[in-house]
Amino acid sequence: MTEETKKTHKFEADVSQVLRLVINSLYSNKEIFLRELISNASDALGKLRFRALTEPELVEGGADLAIRIEVDRDAHTLTISDNGIGMSAEELENNLGTVAHSGTQEFLQRLGESKDGDVNLIGQFGVGFYSAYLVADRVEVVTRAAGSKQAHRWSSDGHESFTIEAARRMEQGTDIVLHLKEDQRGFEDEFRIRDLVKRYSDYIEQPVELRVEKTAREGDDKKKELEWERINEASALWRKRPQEIKDEQYSEFYKHLTHDFEPPLARKHFHVEGTQEFVGLLFIPKRPPMDLFMPEGRHGVRLYVKRVFIMDDCEELLPRWLRFVRGLLDSEDLPLNVSREILQDSSIVRTIRKQMVKRSLDMIESLSEEDFKSFWSAYGPVLKEGLHFEPDHKERLAKLMRYESSTQEGLVSLPDYVDRMKENQKAIYYMQGASRQIVEHSPHLEALKKRGFEVLLMTDAVDQWATEGLQEFDGKPLVSVMDSDLQLEDEEKDESAKEREDELDGLVKRVRQVLQDNIAEVRLSSRLTDSPVCLVLPEGGLPPYLERLMRLQNADMPRQKRILEINPDHELIESLRAMNERDAESQDVAEWVEVLYDQALLAEGSPIEQPSRFSRRLTNLLTEAAQRRSSTS
Ligand code: ADP
Repeated sequence: MTEETKKTHKFEADVSQVLRLVINSLYSNKEIFLRELISNASDALGKLRFRALTEPELVEGGADLAIRIEVDRDAHTLTISDNGIGMSAEELENNLGTVAHSGTQEFLQRLGESKDGDVNLIGQFGVGFYSAYLVADRVEVVTRAAGSKQAHRWSSDGHESFTIEAARRMEQGTDIVLHLKEDQRGFEDEFRIRDLVKRYSDYIEQPVELRVEKTAREGDDKKKELEWERINEASALWRKRPQEIKDEQYSEFYKHLTHDFEPPLARKHFHVEGTQEFVGLLFIPKRPPMDLFMPEGRHGVRLYVKRVFIMDDCEELLPRWLRFVRGLLDSEDLPLNVSREILQDSSIVRTIRKQMVKRSLDMIESLSEEDFKSFWSAYGPVLKEGLHFEPDHKERLAKLMRYESSTQEGLVSLPDYVDRMKENQKAIYYMQGASRQIVEHSPHLEALKKRGFEVLLMTDAVDQWATEGLQEFDGKPLVSVMDSDLQLEDEEKDESAKEREDELDGLVKRVRQVLQDNIAEVRLSSRLTDSPVCLVLPEGGLPPYLERLMRLQNADMPRQKRILEINPDHELIESLRAMNERDAESQDVAEWVEVLYDQALLAEGSPIEQPSRFSRRLTNLLTEAAQRRSSTS
């Protein structure tokens, strides 16, 4: 780009929408713009410091890396500068004209839902820069990428478009020049700026300096001089001892790190010394990030080596089932030029990761009952994944699990369940399904209810997988009430049961023949009391709602055939037996068996294949029954 050319670019539609909302926001807490811009500057310095490890020539002018704030009361501008990594023209266009992260739509929606447009959310959604328009009606960005001689100026009033042109800048880095709105000139006040920086950015690693007027004495003369004064603590918070750090300091640091606007739900600050030395500072956000359940969702903590920022979202340091944990780790032992490849194959990292898991669990276990509740509703399903992946901590994790219960209000834990177990109860029983309402009235629970056994009602898709990992708790096996070999007590089949089996043999064969396309097997049940039939899982089978979920993703998945169980003591079964005995070809028996099958599906909350056929048959049956009743009355 030559010096003369000035190009106009249109904002991407998403950006325009964000800007419109920001510009028109009635939100009173406009000061957050400073936190966002200082945070961006701090990141830019971190990135440069890291690159300068191998390319020291990138840092020009010999100046220390710092963030500088300057007020011009005549021009009514506030400028936030850094001598960090800077941006090329192309980066300017992409970073400040489009949105890199998905999630803008979600941001806009949440903004719409919140009272008076709580733009505080802005940083979390990766659009923090635009908060500048809370206080400015024009923003200019003058920036020069480290390693390049050419600087560029980006400029926009935040409406439709922005311009980019060539510019000059003494060294690498970025100036964000805010032309303050008339009613926002309060931000020209030095004390206000000091106060905000102290509050929001005290413990970021780099100094924040303010241009101030100092009066110097020269003999009898007083002379006014401008100089830079450091206005933040500028020492890495995590290097201090926990006793020396106040709650608010942790909170503000957390907000700086995560762009969250609320304080965290919990934190854990630890130092490990010995064969290895590292410091960790971990947080759990109050609200889950929107990408918590997206496969490409970001996770991991920020990695520092000897206080040098190395990378964000370092996944190697935390397992995926702890992907809600935020924070940082600062190692004394990793090499500064550490790469992803080194991280993946490093015994140092393995040690750190172990500690991170342990400390994260400490942090979760130390939550108050109230906080644990909100923790669980936000992250429960994610933590359950740990049962599958973390055999070493299975016991600890199991104690943190919570489930709905067939006999209790609210959520219950496994230790509480075990305390309530009946004397003759051999296992921890559970049933899986899409929701509590569907699951709790399922026929599969009948025999357990009769015995007073509690059943855990599992309604997360991950439960299947998690219980497979868990298998047992406190020496008691976990058993699904849908399992084909569910045995509630050691029962010997007595003579009369065997007789009944023989009597029903003909009907069982008939049912098998009628339903052969749908089911794998038919047999008598000991788990039913009120219902005539139910469907159970063959060994290793999937709960039906999960099968449906998986089929949504893969339509070719073969259909699983289940086992139909018949209640030998049910009146209807007895009547069907008699009908079948009289006429082994009876069409009625065939039809009614199909109705029973559909009914079994409905009772467990599964859809039926041909609802119209089912409803026609039910209407026929009702018509017949009604006719009979009206003719006898
Ligand atoms: P986020 O910082 O969450 O990515 P922002 O809207 O705040 O979102 O910033 C967008 C991008 O612009 C940043 O990711 C960064 O690449 C770039 N950027 C912003 N400020 C600076 C700066 N002071 N120096 C260098 N790059 C910057």
